[in-house]
Amino acid sequence: MALRNISLAMTTRGGTDRIGRRSEVLVLDAARRGEAVDRASLAAQTELTPQAVSNVLTRLTDAGLVETAGTRSAGVGKPATVYRMRDAARQAVGVHVTRRGVRLAQVDLRGNVGERLWFDLKSDFGPEALIERVREGVGQLGETIDGEGGALVGVGIGMIGPLDHGRGIVRDAYSLKGWHDVPLCDLAHEALRMPIVLDKDVAAAAAGQAWALGTDAADTALILIEAGVGAGLWLRDAAYRGAHTNAGEFGHTVVDINGPRCVCGREGCVEAVHDAAIATGDIEAAANVIAVGALNLVETLDVQHVVLTGTDFARHQQDYLDAVAATIERHRPRSSWRSVTVAAAAHGEDSVAAGAGAQVLQRFVFDLG
Ligand SMILES: [Zn+2]
Repeated sequence: MALRNISLAMTTRGGTDRIGRRSEVLVLDAARRGEAVDRASLAAQTELTPQAVSNVLTRLTDAGLVETAGTRSAGVGKPATVYRMRDAARQAVGVHVTRRGVRLAQVDLRGNVGERLWFDLKSDFGPEALIERVREGVGQLGETIDGEGGALVGVGIGMIGPLDHGRGIVRDAYSLKGWHDVPLCDLAHEALRMPIVLDKDVAAAAAGQAWALGTDAADTALILIEAGVGAGLWLRDAAYRGAHTNAGEFGHTVVDINGPRCVCGREGCVEAVHDAAIATGDIEAAANVIAVGALNLVETLDVQHVVLTGTDFARHQQDYLDAVAATIERHRPRSSWRSVTVAAAAHGEDSVAAGAGAQVLQRFVFDLG
């Protein structure tokens, strides 16, 4: 599979210390989910023998990925040593490219966001200007990660689509000139000399939310409202990208065939109707068109969670949440046995950057391969 080849090639070129051993990943992932763990509980969670867990813990401690955190008494016998993950030991930089500028965030092994940066970009920015800002930001955040005794694993970029995730190529980013078939993954790798993961902004955010929520997030649709509208899909515990890694163009589904002209060339797309409402200051109408789109999404995909994010969403968060929740509740017959939660995404306006960083850690640290 092309994706696998790219990730392995980049691991080699980037020189990361990918944890290839399945048992180490299992133990580290269990440690990520719990606050502090001992040998017996890790053995139960991973189905490894206690001796195998001991060996893995020694290797992970030597690598600086876990540390001891005291002892825990289980009644009789010797108290058990308790371990916890060193969250800062491996980190990524997540990048969110918007039409207004670029946001960068430091992301640790637990998915927590540390230091963040924002750089304005000119409205007609091209690949060179973007890479220059990303290089500057990664340099700054890399120093912070160094100072925390951590290692920078790589950089994840959440970018405006359409793009080809598998090949790392931006096809034609909506509303941006000079972005036709740009091999952004390779350009970023040449500039930064470290592993790069390129994904659509919404797909990165959805992956980050699912990682944060754990197994509860099996079927989640994330709607990004930020100078445009899009959706990231996490279905059956995996990112769903479609045949051309272009699923989730939710903003360009038509809700009013006679509606206003859209940047994509059609009329009456969710994004065009939403933007027209925002332009006249009608927040209720803006929230309602997102709610209609969300209802269609829920009915099409039978997702359990709808998560909203983006800077435009953040400005009128409660209006959007109320409209989406009420519309889904009102227009779905017998919704009691197929409940849908509607909530704001974790990490607020950093949700795309946090997700892009989390994807790097998922692939290069926690991938069972
Ligand atoms: Zn459109």
